[in-house]
Amino acid sequence: MHSLPAIAGNGPGPRCTVPTGRPNVLYSRDMPVEPAKLCIVRYPDPVLRQRAEPIETVTDEVRAVAARMLELMIEAPGIGLAAPQVGLTWRMFVVHVPESHPDDDPDEDNRSPGDDPPTATATPMVYINPMLSGYSRDLVSESEGCLSLPRITGQVRRPSVVTINALDAYGKPFTAQAGGLLARCIQHEFDHIEGVLCIDKFLPPDRRRAAKQLRVMENNADAFTPGATARG
Ligand SMILES: [Zn+2]
Repeated sequence: MHSLPAIAGNGPGPRCTVPTGRPNVLYSRDMPVEPAKLCIVRYPDPVLRQRAEPIETVTDEVRAVAARMLELMIEAPGIGLAAPQVGLTWRMFVVHVPESHPDDDPDEDNRSPGDDPPTATATPMVYINPMLSGYSRDLVSESEGCLSLPRITGQVRRPSVVTINALDAYGKPFTAQAGGLLARCIQHEFDHIEGVLCIDKFLPPDRRRAAKQLRVMENNADAFTPGATARG
């Protein structure tokens, strides 16, 4: 697969023990979140279809959740993870698109945080209450995957450059431009906080192919009996 072994990664990963079908019950904003118990939720969990809410204050709790999300993303492995993917309807995502190295797949794009605009991140990034603008007019099609949609990939057409405004993990606003895989990853994660999944944007042949895999996941979810709850 070209260039995006995934925003996702197709590693097996543990099955999340968050019971499905109960968004905002386990993770009410009135109750503290236990970051260590967060795990990646998978399609068709309804939380993935909710539009996330802005984070009012960047607290230690938010930072602890961001740190846990980075841990889960790296473990998976993936290059991006949005809060709804750990069951939280918060407008936050984390991204780490590492610089490419000469011994990487030669078919892959060269990526560097030093590109203009940057196509990789020098360090793992946290984006809180992000807003996107400055979309380039050109649309580029590449394969995408998602940690919440294991083994499903498809071509998605997106602008090649985008500008992001967000708060960092300390609540400080920043603006950055992104290109290449970093721009794609940021747009994919932004879609998550809008309740949009990459399958919604797959080009038609891939969408048809994915539809069968999605039905299997829907049927398996019906049969799934929740185990331990996500909080103690
Ligand atoms: Zn995703």
